Amino acid sequence: MRTPFICGNWKMYKTVSEALAFLDAAKGLVAGAAGVEVGIGAPATALKSLADAARGSNIRIGGENCHWEKEGAFTGEISVPMLVEAGCAFVIVGHSERRQYFGETNETVNRKVKAALAGGLAVIMCCGETLGEREAGRTGAVVTDHVKNGLAGLTPAEMTKVVVAYEPVWAIGTGRTATPGQAQEAHAVIRELLAGMFGDQTAEATRIQYGGSVKPENVEEIMAQPDVDGALVGGASLKPDSFAKLVNFRA
Ligand code: PEP
Repeated sequence: MRTPFICGNWKMYKTVSEALAFLDAAKGLVAGAAGVEVGIGAPATALKSLADAARGSNIRIGGENCHWEKEGAFTGEISVPMLVEAGCAFVIVGHSERRQYFGETNETVNRKVKAALAGGLAVIMCCGETLGEREAGRTGAVVTDHVKNGLAGLTPAEMTKVVVAYEPVWAIGTGRTATPGQAQEAHAVIRELLAGMFGDQTAEATRIQYGGSVKPENVEEIMAQPDVDGALVGGASLKPDSFAKLVNFRA
């Protein structure tokens, strides 16, 4: 049985005080969500305060990016040990915005995934096609490329700490959600791929989140798909009420 994982991705939203006000309001609203893992990926400045404030609750805090080196002359970057010390439990790697605007490639994604796991963080590794790629019939090929190369060289034991997020780029922040059928189709491709890479048992145990304009109105039908094991949510994770409705999708 895969425990559903609902995770916010705040991107570059919320100052420390805004983040803490959110947490204060959200903690009680999600506390009763049994059998659901709850996370928030937050901007680096807010991580330590958020993780401190979330202690004792069922909300885990994660970074939105990391570097693969432990330290060094990499201005503006954040390392895995820094995230760990701040209290992070996981890190999001390979988000399409990082690939699109910050030059992230399958190779750097792979290095980051390995560094995060070696440093004790769980990983959400994102993959997904652009609209042009979907229209060209390349969804399967693109997702395969991202997953195969992003997770290359990992062991089945390491995969127990990895979540794959399928996020079609054309559905992120656009209000245009993949249909439940489109999500299921891509997730099934990913699970089959994972079986080839790591064996059936690992593929069955690995959680695959869907991301792309998930909101309270559509979360239930997305989560009802057999290979959808959670959601990575941007816009709809920014307000406590909306976030709580996502987490409580079964209610
Ligand atoms: C995301 O940022 O990963 C995302 C899916 O954003 P949104 O929910 O706003 O589409």
